[in-house]
Amino acid sequence: MTNKFINNEQFNYVKSQIALINDSMKKNVPEKVLMAVIDLANSRISALFPNASMEQQNMLDISKLKSDKEYNQYIEGLATYLLPFPLVTEQQLKKMFPKQKKLKLPDLESIDYSKLTYLCWNDLRSNKKFIVYELNGKLVGIEGSLTPTSKKNLCTFCNCFTEVSYFSTITKAKKSKNPDYYKAIGNLICTDSTECNQQITNVEHLTAFLSEALAK
Ligand SMILES: [Zn+2]
Repeated sequence: MTNKFINNEQFNYVKSQIALINDSMKKNVPEKVLMAVIDLANSRISALFPNASMEQQNMLDISKLKSDKEYNQYIEGLATYLLPFPLVTEQQLKKMFPKQKKLKLPDLESIDYSKLTYLCWNDLRSNKKFIVYELNGKLVGIEGSLTPTSKKNLCTFCNCFTEVSYFSTITKAKKSKNPDYYKAIGNLICTDSTECNQQITNVEHLTAFLSEALAK
């Protein structure tokens, strides 16, 4: 059995490092410069997996790869070690969003769970967006309103310059003496969450946002 150990965002990060190398190769940079780019990419990849076994370290090592073809084979090989997003049922999702009596659910069967950092879908009737993520070992969900923007901008989650929407959510924060108190937080994030999942290379901003939204 294959021991899966790579998260979607880590896989994207490795791919981004390989893209940097391919880019330098295409530009025909001097051999020394290319070597430095490869060295740096290799150490970044290795730093991403501090707990990797010897076998995993060998698999991740890119120092011996030479051609485009070898880099592609490397990526394809790593893809078989992708940890899928936890399987989630419609029942679980309904429990996560109890206030939504007519919760619109995503088509769970059409999702490629190996290419997901976070699960996300929209309800266009109500302009709502739902985000589900495994935070500290537990599946959590937040809902918020979605406002499209007309300009491209940086997505808070994946840090790519792309078509974004403003996602705003009411946090769980309460002030004991004021039952009417509520606090909203918002971020510009990719309009297309499939694209975001293909681009996200670390979960720092995603988890910070979710933690703030869910903090009581
Ligand atoms: Zn994004």
